[in-house]
Amino acid sequence: AFDTLVIGGGPAGAAAAIYSARKGINTGLAAGRFGGQVADTMGIENFISVSHTEGPKMVSALEEHVKEYEVDVMNLQTATVFKAADPDGGLHEIAFESGATLKSKTLVLATGARWREMNVPGEQAYRNKGVAYCPHCDGPLYKGKRVAVIGGGNSGVEAAIDLAGIVSHVTLVEFMGEMRADAVLQKKLKSLPNVDIILNAQSTEVTGDGSRVNGLNYIDRTSDEHKAIALEGIFVQIGLVPNTEWLKGSPIEMTPRGEIIVDAHGMTSVPGVFAAGDVTTVPYKQIVIAMGEGAKASLGAFDYLIRN
Ligand code: FAD
Repeated sequence: AFDTLVIGGGPAGAAAAIYSARKGINTGLAAGRFGGQVADTMGIENFISVSHTEGPKMVSALEEHVKEYEVDVMNLQTATVFKAADPDGGLHEIAFESGATLKSKTLVLATGARWREMNVPGEQAYRNKGVAYCPHCDGPLYKGKRVAVIGGGNSGVEAAIDLAGIVSHVTLVEFMGEMRADAVLQKKLKSLPNVDIILNAQSTEVTGDGSRVNGLNYIDRTSDEHKAIALEGIFVQIGLVPNTEWLKGSPIEMTPRGEIIVDAHGMTSVPGVFAAGDVTTVPYKQIVIAMGEGAKASLGAFDYLIRN
């Protein structure tokens, strides 16, 4: 059995595994796909002290760093069931799709999240070629260009306000008849000169010239008219879905949206089970934050081990 078993191989999981292994404890890491969301990222320009890198390059750097330590890395292993240890001691148990099961004294759950997609034609084809999901990451790439933000919740409206300071024009596209974002954000958005808001709009297609996005088609739900917006970028802000479906029904407390609730040490509601990164309630989903949280959760797990 492991002292600490990390589930997930993104920045949070990699950091957690390195911090645990450096304590000299028996450390394992099991991941569906080592690298996580970073593997799908093009340019990364906000990882402090590295002015520019690319996703795949960072993934191999993460992998090399983890391999410098005695971490039992099990890639292509998707966890499907979590069984909590008996409160009077015992081991936590994780079952995997492959049929394998692993036991550990402590766990760090770092299964990350995925952006909710529009599921319209063109979205996949132009992903990273005009279709973006992270304004903090990709906003500066659209300097001086026209973009749309899909979604009028807090994240969509925040993204639109943020982008309006960088790009030439922002169109916020909302499916419903009103935006759900906080009133103060809506007021700020409406005060900006280079922002249009389109309500009751169902996005139907991302169009492009074969290499880059050049427009967004939508249906005006009040008139059923088909309309189009010419633009260079589309930021999809309709939610971030935590990868916790496999934990439903377990004693780990989560928010209604499925984010794992953690305390200041990264511990969940189950003693000895920690969580870190995009899968948790910790706000602002970023690489630098996920790594810090991964380190914190594994130090929390180590602290738990020496006290129990
Ligand atoms: P993830 O990276 O999501 O990793 C989750 C890990 O868990 C993966 O290894 C996955 O395979 C594994 N996993 C999931 N479910 C299971 C399961 N059931 N069993 C086993 N393993 C499982 N952030 C920045 O700071 N800068 C950027 O420029 C930037 N650009 C981005 C661009 C894109 C296109 C995307 C999608 C994200 C971007 N982000 C960026 C956000 C950043 O990638 C995330 O905040 C970060 O990767 C979160 O790390 P994580 O380790 O918590 O989760």
